[in-house]
Amino acid sequence: MTTRFALDRSRSIARFNSGGARVRDAEFKESEHPRSPNGEFGLGHGGGASAAPAPAPAPAPAPAAAPAATHKPVPNLPPEPGTAPVKEGYVRLYHQTGRENIESIRKNGITIEHAQGIEGPRAVYAGETPFYGSAESRPTIEFQVKKEDWDSPFVLRDVTPEDFIGVHEPWHSKARYLEEHPESLKQTLSGEFDDLEGDYKEAVDYIKEKYGTSKTKPPPIDKGSYKMHPEVEASMNATLQNLNDRFPQLENFITKVALTPKAGNEWDNFDKEMRIGGFGLDKPLAEVDLQFDKDNAPDFDVKGGMTALLTHEYGHALNDYIITHSDDAGKDKWYDGKKRLEKELGSPSEYGKKNTGEWLAERFTAETLGLHEPVLTNFIKECMSELPAPKPKKGKKK
Ligand SMILES: [Zn+2]
Repeated sequence: MTTRFALDRSRSIARFNSGGARVRDAEFKESEHPRSPNGEFGLGHGGGASAAPAPAPAPAPAPAAAPAATHKPVPNLPPEPGTAPVKEGYVRLYHQTGRENIESIRKNGITIEHAQGIEGPRAVYAGETPFYGSAESRPTIEFQVKKEDWDSPFVLRDVTPEDFIGVHEPWHSKARYLEEHPESLKQTLSGEFDDLEGDYKEAVDYIKEKYGTSKTKPPPIDKGSYKMHPEVEASMNATLQNLNDRFPQLENFITKVALTPKAGNEWDNFDKEMRIGGFGLDKPLAEVDLQFDKDNAPDFDVKGGMTALLTHEYGHALNDYIITHSDDAGKDKWYDGKKRLEKELGSPSEYGKKNTGEWLAERFTAETLGLHEPVLTNFIKECMSELPAPKPKKGKKK
């Protein structure tokens, strides 16, 4: 029997292996707010009789209350090969070598004395393209020298670390993929790729070291009288924690996630809480996701299960946060920017055409799920970075 996690996992690996486009397709989500009179919005997410069973327990999310650890910064990956600018009058070159030479080269550069091509006489061999294979297949030093120091295929002097643009290792492209895809990042941090080996393992270890110590907590879930399947609860916590890690200002802004009897979902600007229909959440995650999927027509909203639903509401919360904390100039920038992007980017779904608020929530969801470039997300980050820092919350926490 195949579980949802097994499926998602193999898809993710295929994706991050190829570094290619997201292949995940129809998944679902229920919609929200005011239910439309024509009944387009899904009603409760009970039922789900035909859903595939998913017996595997959900992996536990990263511990929510990580101690304020001494979080040593992990260096960023070099820019993707061939993308960083080169100085005027310089030429971009690549030198490929064995893995065993990398550490020494990082420290000392590539010296004529020590350098060896993979074959041939001693010299600093280089090429204007990586000639033994791509940077994904073997360690590759990307560097720049003045044009007069380059006499193909030789560099006529030692290459020092100051000349380096990037020291690329085969696992970097895999780590870069994980970094750029929030869903895959979440899966990595929850341990779903822990058994991978080779370059994958190096990528996973790097990501876990860099992002593993979660700096935020997800908002508490007020279940009321509703029961939740542990998979569903773990998935909700992981999604919200992942979002809070990206937007830590919202950690103390969103007061809670309340399960309610209403079939729709909403962000409440007044109480600063997210409300999610509580009925049917006691079923396995695959079933819940599938039910959301069925509730609305195919292009009605951005599909992506419980994750998409929460991400949509989180988009409303971000909007509320920015408006609440902006001065007049900040508000103008935010309103004008949203309108401009809405026009430029179009809506990722039917529901996003309803108004700018729903456009924002749908577009944010689509970007977070990796369906579109993070254009809106970058604008959100920019506006948030210009807000005053959040005041620490007073009062003791239990
Ligand atoms: Zn909405």
